[in-house]
Amino acid sequence: MADRRTVLVIDDEEAIRDSCRQVLAKAGYDCHTAVDGIEGLHIAHQVEPDLILLDLMMPGIDGLEVLRQVMQTHPNTVCIVITGYATIESAVDAMKQGAFDFLPKPFTPQELRLIVTRGLEQRRLLLETAELRAEKERMKEYFITIVAHELRSPLLLVKQYLDLIVGGKMGTIDDMAREMLEGAHGTLTGLLGIIADWLKLARINSGDIAGAMEETELWPVLETVVEEMQPFAKDKNVSLRLDPPPESCVVNAHAESMVVVFKNLISNAIKYNREHGTVSLEGLCVDGNLRVQVRDTGIGIPEKELPFVFEDFFRVTSSQTADISGTGLGLSIVKKIVEGHHGTVEVQSTEGEGTVFDVQLPLLSCEEKMEEEDYD
Ligand code: ATP
Ligand code: MG
Repeated sequence: MADRRTVLVIDDEEAIRDSCRQVLAKAGYDCHTAVDGIEGLHIAHQVEPDLILLDLMMPGIDGLEVLRQVMQTHPNTVCIVITGYATIESAVDAMKQGAFDFLPKPFTPQELRLIVTRGLEQRRLLLETAELRAEKERMKEYFITIVAHELRSPLLLVKQYLDLIVGGKMGTIDDMAREMLEGAHGTLTGLLGIIADWLKLARINSGDIAGAMEETELWPVLETVVEEMQPFAKDKNVSLRLDPPPESCVVNAHAESMVVVFKNLISNAIKYNREHGTVSLEGLCVDGNLRVQVRDTGIGIPEKELPFVFEDFFRVTSSQTADISGTGLGLSIVKKIVEGHHGTVEVQSTEGEGTVFDVQLPLLSCEEKMEEEDYD
């Protein structure tokens, strides 16, 4: 029978093994037994059971250790621990380590059948969830391919044609046509910007950044970003300054992604600022973290909107933001990148006064740096 469910009983008491085997075989399950943890792990690798009934108190490696190893290698296998009333506390420990439930000794055949049925239902749900997750990953990959190749490439081609026409390379065009084509060019450029953001987001989700991180002195990276953003600040009559931290700040980071993070935060701090406002970046090393605060004197964010600012496509809609363009993806990209670096980003804001975005990244400690150098 192809989908006959497999149950493994690991218990050093022969009587328990025999009675479980009888009850479970009668209920139609394919039942295996093991006399201790070592044999249990061996059979678990061979038969990949749907469910394991596991005694906690066994000679040799105990049930908790078996559970830990099974959870590591077969996270979708459901484990139910068998325990005496005196060891209820260990049963609680086992549940914290991923056991689905516990069955106190002595138990009746009816209790055994019931708990196994519930455990197998849990197994079905776990497998279904794993399958849906895999499907979501496949769809994401498909989405990236479609957006990157089928949508972006032809749009880029159209933009190149428009570049030539608007740039006068194809001869003169009358003013009305020029105005329309420039409008089309602007719209297309905006659309390509959104697509670039989407792709960035999808790629961050696919975990590309983790593999590209290296020892990075962050402050020179920020100096370059601030330099590049100065023209935008001047355009809005906003002063932009960088206050470096007193000591050197080496973090494990992907420099290009850090540029994306701080460009987004500075761009927001400028965009949502007021005339003659200020934007400052302050660095601080605290508790093993590098903390960079991007502080502005802008319009602020209403308190009720604060929990949503890091969500995809979220934008505050108010008369003050109506004329400011954006897609609402900037901060969600920032959060994903920072979290991909094992850091955090938080926001505090007061309407009418300003906003502070607080990025914290784990500093590479001296020992870690030395270890890496030794390795080199
Ligand atoms: P883009 O994707 O182009 O960055 P965006 O700036 O609208 O578009 P986010 O950067 O994700 O999107 O910001 C989300 C929203 O949070 C913004 O629309 C704005 O309403 C609010 N916001 C973000 N930063 C600030 C800030 N420094 N001051 C005030 N409001 C802000
Ligand atoms: Mg933004």
